[in-house]
Amino acid sequence: MHEVSIAESIVDIARDYAGRENVPLFSAIELQIGTLSGIEIEALMFAMDVVCRGTVLEGAEIRIQSVAGRARCEGCNFEFPVEDQFSPCPACGELRSSIISGEELRVSSLLFSE
Ligand SMILES: [Zn+2]
Repeated sequence: MHEVSIAESIVDIARDYAGRENVPLFSAIELQIGTLSGIEIEALMFAMDVVCRGTVLEGAEIRIQSVAGRARCEGCNFEFPVEDQFSPCPACGELRSSIISGEELRVSSLLFSE
């Protein structure tokens, strides 16, 4: 399952940060996940639950911020919301477009109580 390796990399990021900043345990982690990233939130939450045990993220609240997909038309530069990578431009019908947001998976913040 793809989401398990994602959960493991999130834990790695938290562990590195904890090591640098000398944080024993985080109380919350905020993730930005794009709607085009192909990540299933439910599967990721389940994987996090398992993978975080015994780590600096054990018991941490996981906050998910969803990032909507947006694309820019390669024909006319129009920017529009997209649900998948293959949506035609609503302004000119061009099929080629570049995704400008929605593919991200980012740890936006790690919170801990003093
Ligand atoms: Zn266009």
